[in-house]
Amino acid sequence: MLAHHGGRQATTTFSVLSEVTPMASTAHPDAQEGTASGVLARMSARGHEQVVFASDPASGYRAIVAIHSTRIGPALGGTRMWAYATEEAALTDALRLSEGMTYKAAAAGVPFGGGKSVVIADPKTADRPAVFRAHGRAVEGLGGRYITSVDIGTSPDDMRYVREETTHVGGLPTTVGDPSPATARGVQRAIEASLHHVRGSADLAGRTIAIQGLGHVGYHLARMLHDAGARLIASDTNDERAARVAKEFGAQIVAPESIHTAKADVFAPCAFGAGLSPATIPALRCEVVAGAANNQLLSDADGALLEKRSIAYAPDFIANAGGLIYLCQEVAGWTAERVARTLEGIFDTTVAVFDAASKRGIPSSEAAVQITRERLNAAPRLATGRPR
Ligand code: NAD
Repeated sequence: MLAHHGGRQATTTFSVLSEVTPMASTAHPDAQEGTASGVLARMSARGHEQVVFASDPASGYRAIVAIHSTRIGPALGGTRMWAYATEEAALTDALRLSEGMTYKAAAAGVPFGGGKSVVIADPKTADRPAVFRAHGRAVEGLGGRYITSVDIGTSPDDMRYVREETTHVGGLPTTVGDPSPATARGVQRAIEASLHHVRGSADLAGRTIAIQGLGHVGYHLARMLHDAGARLIASDTNDERAARVAKEFGAQIVAPESIHTAKADVFAPCAFGAGLSPATIPALRCEVVAGAANNQLLSDADGALLEKRSIAYAPDFIANAGGLIYLCQEVAGWTAERVARTLEGIFDTTVAVFDAASKRGIPSSEAAVQITRERLNAAPRLATGRPR
């Protein structure tokens, strides 16, 4: 697909829509195995609506924009920049992350669907102004069906270049600022709900909480939990960050390799994904896992492993939705009061997930996806993909 914006060549080179007229089953003689047909199969397996491959040879921009769902509003999701080893790896990331955004938004009650962009480039060497302007043109070409923002490898400054080409972008430097304190508040609410589930009380006073990672979210979470009277055990591979949390909030610092084995009421992963696996779950000495990291389970089966150990797991996409809720000030015109109210709602959503898991006899990770899918399927489909 080729289009033109103000005389420039558009960046979109190939677009695949899911709702197309079915094609004859005989392959075209030009078709090559493992190209478009493979993409379409993967899209229908996970329910994606649209995948756009975009390129701008002049700047070296190469990207994939995946729109998983616009059922309850335009697809919202950040732009990740990463030196992916293969296009296949980039596509896998775009498909997986955009689907995750659909569930995160639907569970959080924000009027957006799920999408994600991946820019295939080395963040250290890319020509950022040119690359992000090209990205802005690709996003603009989607006419508002997709709204982007920051993610790993991109910053609010990059979004200024995107903004030169499209209005469908959030996370700009001068608007609402850092979402991390909101993410931390949401994690706190998920921790409280999990304690309520296992102990019958959400009170944090006197509880011991082990925090893995003291960066943007982990630092604010440590502050909030300390203010609520919790005792902290913490770790970070960055010694300065660990020392700061020890000094300011009296946290006991342990080595990064042993934080998940700390004896605590709650383990809060706030560093990286895939940390909960058959290698780490047997060593946990907590009753609750609730943290900010994305994709905490190495695989779906690890949800059952936690369940078998009677550890209450607050599903990551429910617990860490605070940043997305916060972004609604900028991209949906929400008031600060509405943001705060929705953030507090993470408590009730987490409780509802544990209740559904108990009733259905399934792990909380599975219950979270099931009830979110049910909510999505019950929502009327929007014709335009615009917020109500
Ligand atoms: P960050 O990069 O600011 O902080 C991560 C911290 O973890 C760093 O201080 C790093 O030194 C530390 N770390 C890395 N490896 C570690 C290890 N092995 N042991 C202990 N510490 C280690 O990131 P962030 O913005 O605080 O986000 C944390 C997690 O939460 C990420 O997985 C992110 O995707 C997720 N998340 C963040 C937000 C947000 O608003 N920032 C929103 C949703 C999800």
